[in-house]
Amino acid sequence: DKSTTTGVSITRLISSDTAFDEQLSKVLAWDEAADHQVHEVVKDILSHVKGRGDAAILEYTQRFDSVDARSMAELEISQQRLIEALDKVTPEQKQALQTAADRVRSYHEKQIQSSWNYTEADGTVLGQQVVAMDRVGLYVPGGKAAYPSSVLMNAIPAKVAGVKELIMVVPTPKGEVNELVLAAAAISGVDRVFTIGGAQAVAALAYGSETVPAVDKIVGPGNIYVATAKREVFGTVGIDMIAGPSEILVICDGKTDPDWIAMDLFSQAEHDENAQSILISQDKQYLDQVQESIDKLLQTMERKDIIKASIEGRAAFIQVKDLSDAIAVSNRIAPEHLELSVEDPDALLPEIRHAGAIFMGRYTAEALGDYCAGPNHVLPTSGTARFSSPLGVYDFQKRSSIIKFSADGASEMGKVASILARGEGLTAHARSAEYRIKDES
Ligand code: NAD
Repeated sequence: DKSTTTGVSITRLISSDTAFDEQLSKVLAWDEAADHQVHEVVKDILSHVKGRGDAAILEYTQRFDSVDARSMAELEISQQRLIEALDKVTPEQKQALQTAADRVRSYHEKQIQSSWNYTEADGTVLGQQVVAMDRVGLYVPGGKAAYPSSVLMNAIPAKVAGVKELIMVVPTPKGEVNELVLAAAAISGVDRVFTIGGAQAVAALAYGSETVPAVDKIVGPGNIYVATAKREVFGTVGIDMIAGPSEILVICDGKTDPDWIAMDLFSQAEHDENAQSILISQDKQYLDQVQESIDKLLQTMERKDIIKASIEGRAAFIQVKDLSDAIAVSNRIAPEHLELSVEDPDALLPEIRHAGAIFMGRYTAEALGDYCAGPNHVLPTSGTARFSSPLGVYDFQKRSSIIKFSADGASEMGKVASILARGEGLTAHARSAEYRIKDES
């Protein structure tokens, strides 16, 4: 049911309704436009860049970003220019970027994984060697808006992991660079920056060209062309994830200022029309109060058209029996962002099974997590928190198994391997293991 006020119309659900499961599935349903045409366009761009390198990149950059460059050198931004950007932003902006970067770095340093091993009684050593990736590509969207926070959140974990070369690509439509984005790149230690975008930039990073070095993994958000290209090059390179629209789920006990909650919901809704904001409470009157706040505050919002479309199209207010019912619904949704706007969030925490990031208590606005709390803002969306985690240092490290047999160990395990290998009919395997079995006569 949609609540019928003169203001914004919001879907209302009640968890005890018999049709609740079905209604909730409808609210959550999200079909990424499986756009056949985009797929064809992207495949074409990928194959041209793979085959013709720089020449193709230059052509596409002219066509899609209206940037007329004669050589790729013109599309590279020097380290000197990145440093200059730090002086072009306001001192306040520079300070805020620096503070956010420091906090993101400190947090991520705790995630570094180290190599490990153990020694068995016969001297055999087993373990894992953890190393950083050699070269990573970072896509920074630049078509419609600029996202300096996205630069920090993707670049800093890579650098903390020890990635040797971090290559950033960012489209600059009509040649307009964003100083904040460049300043963020300077602060996070990005090694090279090319002003290219879309599927052609993803192709350049995946396959390499005369100028752009091929990377091992591509991270960062982008529009449908970028996402489709990343999906397509996966396997040739690693990718982080394919993000769906942003989501927030707020569980409130009815005691937080309704204006605060309305604005928290808006903070997701303003991303785009497909963003999803869900509020859960056991208190029906409180849901009505938040509705009133939404109606009142919407008029004051710069992006009110996007917010209204997102709230009316995809938001939901869910009335539950109690807080434990609220957690059960939340676990089913597996939200990207979960706000626990309650008196004692620590009491609920152990029950939460699936969420990208958990914001604890009335003072923890999700917006702080987007910029400067420290944890990553690249999070699993569309229920994928059931099986995946925030972007982190571990996404830029990989592991090799270490196996070192002693003579005694090789002899003992050689017998086991021999039996299993012969069972599989692989006699070279068996004989290779048997050579190392000690003669016990
Ligand atoms: P973008 O950089 O992703 O895309 C711009 C590029 O798209 C252009 O350079 C061009 O190469 C390509 N393109 C555009 N039209 C094309 C066409 N008709 N054919 C072929 N290629 C074409 O920038 P954007 O468009 O502003 O999109 C940014 C996206 O990133 C948004 O969807 C935004 O929501 C998303 N985003 C997500 C997060 C997140 O954390 N999930 C953060 C920031 C941005």
